[in-house]
Amino acid sequence: MSFASLGLLDDIVRAVAELGYTEPTPIQLQAIPAVLTGRDLLAGAQTGTGKTAGFTLPILHRLANRASKGPSEGRPPVRALILTPTRELAAQVEESVQNYGKYLKLTSMTMFGGVSINPQIKQLRSRVDILVATPGRLLDHVQQGTLDLSRIEILVLDEADRMLDMGFIRDIKKILALLPRDRQNLLFSATFSDEIKALADSLLKSPELIEVARRNATADTIAQKVHPVDRDKKRQLLAHLIQEHNWFQVLVFTRTKHGANRLAEQLDKDGISAMAIHGNKSQGARTRALSEFKEGSLQVLVATDIAARGIDIDQLPHVVNFELPNVPEDYVHRIGRTGRAGAEGEAVSLVCVDEKKLLADIEKLIKRELPKEIVPGFEPDPSIKPEPIQQRSGGGARQGQGRGGPPRKPAGNASEGRQSQGKPQARQPVAQAGNHNSRGPSVGRRPTGRHQ
Ligand code: AMP
Repeated sequence: MSFASLGLLDDIVRAVAELGYTEPTPIQLQAIPAVLTGRDLLAGAQTGTGKTAGFTLPILHRLANRASKGPSEGRPPVRALILTPTRELAAQVEESVQNYGKYLKLTSMTMFGGVSINPQIKQLRSRVDILVATPGRLLDHVQQGTLDLSRIEILVLDEADRMLDMGFIRDIKKILALLPRDRQNLLFSATFSDEIKALADSLLKSPELIEVARRNATADTIAQKVHPVDRDKKRQLLAHLIQEHNWFQVLVFTRTKHGANRLAEQLDKDGISAMAIHGNKSQGARTRALSEFKEGSLQVLVATDIAARGIDIDQLPHVVNFELPNVPEDYVHRIGRTGRAGAEGEAVSLVCVDEKKLLADIEKLIKRELPKEIVPGFEPDPSIKPEPIQQRSGGGARQGQGRGGPPRKPAGNASEGRQSQGKPQARQPVAQAGNHNSRGPSVGRRPTGRHQ
């Protein structure tokens, strides 16, 4: 099955071919025809499945194929709104819009916090057909009267589960209230909590349901491995692995921002170029780190779970869990950054005695035992007793409180870590292999604290 046979405009098919995509991924095969019909869509898919093209290509087709509705005089309206949880994801989605739409006359822009609002206001004065935004800054524009959403034809909530995790639900509801009733809604989510189900029920009108197998269920292209090691030998082991195997483009996950900073500094001292990326870094520092990492001049990027969302790097070869995540689904998100679009990838977890329970939870979720391999020279000392896992390091207070509830977060963190208040949410994978068109079984409750 080719992109052309899905009925997409020739100009879109040409752009996609130039990017080297030869055939649609499973999510694209399902999502593109569904979106082209104009129906609402509920899609279970995570990063790495090709979901961005899954919604972007048919949106471009639909917008290019018909003129905007409503009065033709005055400023042309924004016609499609794509909401994302993070700035990085917004930037990447808009880059895809530009790449896929390069032969069309449609225009797009990104809108996120942490950067000056004035250039955005200026850009909005010209024509913007497709707006890719994080919720907070979008509402800032609405409040300032610089953005009119009354003629939106298509709305996308991308990584909706993450948006809710980050406390954006109130912002999303406010935004929904600003949109015209007659529109197409597309909701993409990797997992399915009760909160997501409620949002989907209130947002979508008889949606088409599609889902693709989670990468964890079919992760043939990702070699997963656990290296048991003592907690205070993890850093040496990581440096050893990187140097021994000459790894480049290594994405390393830590649980806390402080831990990310410390590890990046220590690796640097070991002669391995490393930078940390997390919500306390300025947008400039994050963009710089990401671009150096992408081009290969930065060997290691150390990230927290939230910061790593949306980092989309083709064929990322190595993901290292320096610390296992508290939430087992985050393991799946983390390793989903490697081995994407059929490329080979390796996901290595350094696991100390404190993390046995976390490892067991992950193995339960992915329904397989991960192979354990002790690295010579790093044999764990059996006499070391487990210690409780440090939940809050580096003064790691929970991030923002969401709008409507003071205190507001400082601008530098505007799109990251708005935590919802109230009870913890159950998170469920939307899609399980062999479990089509169902929303997947519950996989347990999230711990109250999500720290980074
Ligand atoms: P996404 O899941 O949207 O983050 O996409 C994951 C990666 O797959 C991106 O780097 C895309 O450029 C790439 N990609 C998307 N669709 C295809 C395709 N049909 N063939 C090859 N690569 C693709």
